[in-house]
Amino acid sequence: MAELEGWLEWAVPEHGFRWAHEAPDDPATARATMDFVYGRDCDVRPPWLIAPPHGERHPTRTTLPFKEAPELHRRFAGLPLTKDAILAFANEFGSLVGGNLVVTVVDQEMPTFHPAESLGFWQWAIQDMRDAVHLWDLLRGDGGGEPNVDGLREVIRWEGDRVEHFPAGSSLRLNHTQTIQAQKFAGEAALEAALGKSSPGPVSHLERTAAEARAKLAETLSRAGRVHLGQRIIAGLQSNGPSPALWAHWRTTKDVVGPARLRLLQFFNEELAGKIDVQLVLDSGGSLRTRLVPKDLLTGMWLMFFFEVTGKTKLRRCPICRTWFDVTRSPKKTFCDSHGAGCRQKASRMRKKARALLAQGKSPDQVAQELGFDPDLVRFLLTSGHG
Ligand SMILES: [Zn+2]
Repeated sequence: MAELEGWLEWAVPEHGFRWAHEAPDDPATARATMDFVYGRDCDVRPPWLIAPPHGERHPTRTTLPFKEAPELHRRFAGLPLTKDAILAFANEFGSLVGGNLVVTVVDQEMPTFHPAESLGFWQWAIQDMRDAVHLWDLLRGDGGGEPNVDGLREVIRWEGDRVEHFPAGSSLRLNHTQTIQAQKFAGEAALEAALGKSSPGPVSHLERTAAEARAKLAETLSRAGRVHLGQRIIAGLQSNGPSPALWAHWRTTKDVVGPARLRLLQFFNEELAGKIDVQLVLDSGGSLRTRLVPKDLLTGMWLMFFFEVTGKTKLRRCPICRTWFDVTRSPKKTFCDSHGAGCRQKASRMRKKARALLAQGKSPDQVAQELGFDPDLVRFLLTSGHG
């Protein structure tokens, strides 16, 4: 049986990316216009993250994300939605799709044409990955045990005969419902007035209420650090979701685990559809290997996440610095290498302090409070390590 691997060679410009805008207020941002859009359904609004221009030789380095960073989807999901964080990520790992826009920069004598991706496109991609990863973390539960049903009830909701994914949680859900209702009332009143069934008087008032509700929703959304609500009907009576028997069981028990699994597979099936090639290659020893080759970095990160969910790769989070790292080949490894041996040494120092306080008769919770450590971390330290 040929061994299976993910494979992507992704070029990153040596001189990096930069931000461009139509009318920059920041002198470091190039002035640009958008010329062309590849594909559809992407946010084309500025600012744009631009690569070095087409038609000139610009040095690139090739990265192998599946080899070098099999946990990259976790880092991507945790990326702040800011221009600085996105620029730093792109300069390290490259663009998401190789540019889905062409942008002309006019700040030099000759205009230059650049492959580009909008800030909104990046933010939506991060938000989607974050919502999917969060769903998976709730499904696998803390420490890989049972699903976290209380957590799932926050984001999986039954509404009559349908079940929805609402990753923004209950408070935003209320805002969202109010906005929809206000818009519906305003729309109905406008229609009645247009048909001459009522006077146009109340319409402007209702429209103002709807606009206020929309503004409030946008404000709550940004305060929650989100770019979109991400709500989605997972399955309903007419949908081709689960089998009728399974659906009936879900509906009677108001199950949240089954629908969450269905939502997770919807993420994968949509993100990966038509974007991966299968190749057979010879490895250095002459044996056959099967390669799954995603068309771009974004698809590659969804494939990495797919490998995590299906158990092909094993990832762990460093208890000290919270960095994700790959433990597929070294399942006993507890601490990351991102800081050399730093996290292991830090844990050892923290463990000594915790044990000293424990020896004075303090409880683990008191120890945590006194040292300013997370209680879970203290429990971990006290049950791990030698001597
Ligand atoms: Zn660490």
